[in-house]
Amino acid sequence: MRKVVTVCLSILFVAGIVVAGKSHAPKFDPEKIRVHVKYLASDELEGRGMNQKGGDMAADYIATQFKSYGLKPAGENGSYFQTVPMVGVKTLAATTFTFVPASGTPLELKALDDYVTTNERQTETAVIDAPIVFVGYGISAPEYQWDDYKGYDLKGKVALLFVNEPVSDDPKFFKGKALTYYGRWTYKFEETARRGAFATLIIHQEDLASYPWTVVRNSWGGEKSFLKLDGTPKLEAASWIQQDVARKLVAMGGLDLDKLFQEAQSRDFKPIQLPVNLKAHIDSAIHPFTSRNVLAMVQGSDPAKKGQAILYTAHYDHFGIDKSKPAGANIYHGAADNATGCGILLELGRVWADTKPAPPRSILFAAVTAEEQGLLGSEYLGKHTAQLPTQPILDLNYDDLPPIGIPEEVEVTGAERTTFYPTVEETAKEFNLTIRPDSRPEAGHYYRSDHFSLGRVGIPAFSVSEGMKYKDHDAAWGQAEAKDYVEHRYHQPTDVYEPSMDFHGDALMAEFGYALGQKAASASAVPMWLSGDEFEAAQKQRQMSGANK
Ligand SMILES: [Zn+2]
Repeated sequence: MRKVVTVCLSILFVAGIVVAGKSHAPKFDPEKIRVHVKYLASDELEGRGMNQKGGDMAADYIATQFKSYGLKPAGENGSYFQTVPMVGVKTLAATTFTFVPASGTPLELKALDDYVTTNERQTETAVIDAPIVFVGYGISAPEYQWDDYKGYDLKGKVALLFVNEPVSDDPKFFKGKALTYYGRWTYKFEETARRGAFATLIIHQEDLASYPWTVVRNSWGGEKSFLKLDGTPKLEAASWIQQDVARKLVAMGGLDLDKLFQEAQSRDFKPIQLPVNLKAHIDSAIHPFTSRNVLAMVQGSDPAKKGQAILYTAHYDHFGIDKSKPAGANIYHGAADNATGCGILLELGRVWADTKPAPPRSILFAAVTAEEQGLLGSEYLGKHTAQLPTQPILDLNYDDLPPIGIPEEVEVTGAERTTFYPTVEETAKEFNLTIRPDSRPEAGHYYRSDHFSLGRVGIPAFSVSEGMKYKDHDAAWGQAEAKDYVEHRYHQPTDVYEPSMDFHGDALMAEFGYALGQKAASASAVPMWLSGDEFEAAQKQRQMSGANK
């Protein structure tokens, strides 16, 4: 047994040297990653809050590092920065929300207890008096022959719908148990806005949403940040309502929520207009500001290919400092989330800058902002790739990689949906890493990190992260570590840097991503979403528009 372990380890190190040797690249240094994490997670950076001093300091630090490695700026006007115009929207207490039936008593809702709402159209006042239409799951998915709308015009209406997607175990139907983007609440708001709805009410069901109402309440109670309006259709009232409130609402129209849920499972479902209006007056405080993505690059060596790039991303923002809380416990340090990803991104930048000769395709680095606000910095990057000096054809993202030792597994969820997967498998083998499949596909993690912002505009994209099995431990240990992190540090001020942290695993994940980048940067073919994938159409559109041909 022991012998087997020793043999595996020597393969691991040989693989590392071979990869480094081929390209004459310097080695990845865990201690350099430590220095970045220690600084980015320090009190001085005050939790890297977006639109706070600490967030700006983090962006400046990353740009300074990029420059010191000799990376070229890839931002605006020869700088390392891309300005991201944003708007903070806070729903004020004067807001009212009432269900008014054609006959009978109106039902006035209680803010936060019964509903949460945000005016995505970013106006100080919105007045709504419009009929409510139940649209099932609100999904239009031609690839699954599913259309909840059946030609119904939502213009000027209020959509009422369930979160998630039709219940199924069939892998060919909404990918079985796995959540597709159609099930995410962000899709529901986007799709109904595209169809002209004023407002959308998502019915919160704890069992289907995979988180309790308190999570909805907490994340929607304060100021919410959005990208500045750019012509993308938006709702005046993007809302969630409690299940019991939805029950009362449909009962006003003589309907039963459980029966509606059953009806929504059928392809034959048609929208049902209720004899009830939403009467709402939404008052919001509007607060425009800007944030920054940090961008750098290595120019490719092949004139025919340097217009294409391998992109590495990691978000640098976290929750900042909460001055309403006592000093000493009010900084969200974000050491694991995501100073680790930034440390890896910087180390990748350093090694790529020293890689001679440069690969045929270019290499792009983006430290993005506002991930914690809903992947906004990467969304802006994905929507504005035309501004970049070279076009991404693959995105490798790093988000929250625990510095707890050397992983023997790697997670690359989403890679299996692309033509790049055989290369990923081959590389994992060279590194003696087992690919760990997504343990909870029903949670839809793919849609919750920055790679998704690139994926949805047609660029094959996935995150590289550690699995659960670490050297000298069993997988149960890794799982216990993950659980301890989620319970005691994740998104809490306690996510701090500790001198006992071990960055060898983070360095290994950087090296793995580097090896993937090397192969993608010199391959003859560009990675593609597989045929039938939800992002295939976006990639075709992207290629037709002239990007990454
Ligand atoms: Zn986070």
